[in-house]
Amino acid sequence: MIALSLADVAAIVGGQQHDIPDPGLTVTGPVVIDSREVRPGSLFAAFAGEHVDGHDFAERAVAAGATAVLASRPVGVPAVVVDDVVAALGKLARAVVERLGTTVVALTGSAGKTSTKDLVAQLLTGIGPTVWTPGSLNNEIGLPLTALRADAGTRHLVLEMGARGIGHIRYLTELTPPRIGVVLNVGTAHLGEFGGREQIAQAKGELVESLPGEADGGIAVLNADDPLVRAMSARTKARTVLFGEAADAHVRAEDVRLDALGRPSFTLHTPTGCGNVTMRLYGEHHVSNALAAAAVAHELGMPVSEIASALSGAGQLSRWRMEVTERADGVTIVNDAYNANPESMRAALRALVAMGEAAQARGGRTWAVLGRMAELGEESLAEHDAVGRLAVRLNVSKLVAVGGREAAWLRMGAYNEGSWGEESVHVSDAQAAVDLLRSELRPGDVVLVKASRSVGLERVAEQLLALD
Ligand code: ATP
Ligand code: MG
Repeated sequence: MIALSLADVAAIVGGQQHDIPDPGLTVTGPVVIDSREVRPGSLFAAFAGEHVDGHDFAERAVAAGATAVLASRPVGVPAVVVDDVVAALGKLARAVVERLGTTVVALTGSAGKTSTKDLVAQLLTGIGPTVWTPGSLNNEIGLPLTALRADAGTRHLVLEMGARGIGHIRYLTELTPPRIGVVLNVGTAHLGEFGGREQIAQAKGELVESLPGEADGGIAVLNADDPLVRAMSARTKARTVLFGEAADAHVRAEDVRLDALGRPSFTLHTPTGCGNVTMRLYGEHHVSNALAAAAVAHELGMPVSEIASALSGAGQLSRWRMEVTERADGVTIVNDAYNANPESMRAALRALVAMGEAAQARGGRTWAVLGRMAELGEESLAEHDAVGRLAVRLNVSKLVAVGGREAAWLRMGAYNEGSWGEESVHVSDAQAAVDLLRSELRPGDVVLVKASRSVGLERVAEQLLALD
């Protein structure tokens, strides 16, 4: 972070200074919201949450070295007091990003934001110091906290932006105005909250509406294969760069193949040349994510040969996303329990089948251990039914549906598609799934574990690995 005097901080956020013993006090960062993460020079932002009030930790934060507290009331230690701490964090981020002149790359989409953000960050670190969102911190608190980590040396700031409704992305783009905006896809994630795909497209498109015009370097990186995303080019003043498999995409993949473990390789085409990419990540959906990342890096001047080799070297992204581990007894566990929506369920099932091909030739089986996809509103029954059916059509060997009503729908879909009997079971919870699998698994089997975050199915994956 860049150094800011408390007077500077107060002026930027429109706050009042309280209990300041020395007018020369300076914040050198990081800005934190957890007093345990305070370092000397930190600014501790205190929130009054439902269960804990950050203001109660103000003294502790200052004792641990924080220069001051950003608070909504005086706390007896050096503080800048504002009405709204979240809004103040945003103002601070905006001022810092403006002063630094860092190139901001923002990404949104229904699925793949975190994966692609990590890929973009891995590429851009090859051409200059880059700061990026850790994990999925993509809201009005996480975004400014990430932006505030940038300092004078930072060339690129890569930010994930999540949309929970209309106006949400617009707000985030006002905090950290992006020069490059990437829209990955418009799926059915959070369909229940939004009401429909058109509304989701409306909300995600706010990202490209915020971009500067072409003359000022604005670039909209859009998925050519997703009609609702492609149509967003009409909503921006920025130059459009298309990525995808469509023939007119500027950054394109040809000859996409999956290896026996479901890792894609392809020929990367860009306006300035081609390169061969062999990914270490699992699942065909990463081709689209890689193309988006390649488009960004290409626009920022990275040579194609370097893009291709960096994409080929990009390793495991964040936790619980297609984490593939082979047990000593030859059972492979694929932990994708971080989250799920219909698009990512389909992508993960296809990856399971690709990984299982070699296993099946040796007598191993593919297991899909699936739980609920949350937030689907009225579509929920149909989407769970469709995933169950897809499991049968893809010839997955066994389906274990875990949980309540939605799991029952998953299993019914499978049953109705293929009159599956013993190939599908419905169990009530994670423990029951582990108990079943403990006695059933045999060497060569490949097990995919996936559900929405709230189901916590990573416990199944972790217990299965512990059984090794
Ligand atoms: P969140 O909204 O939870 O932050 P996200 O958009 O950041 O999600 P990721 O965390 O990257 O997405 O991936 C979520 C799930 O979607 C994972 O299971 C992953 O395997 C799958 N996935 C990643 N990229 C794509 C894609 N392009 N299309 C479909 N599914 C994808
Ligand atoms: Mg995410």
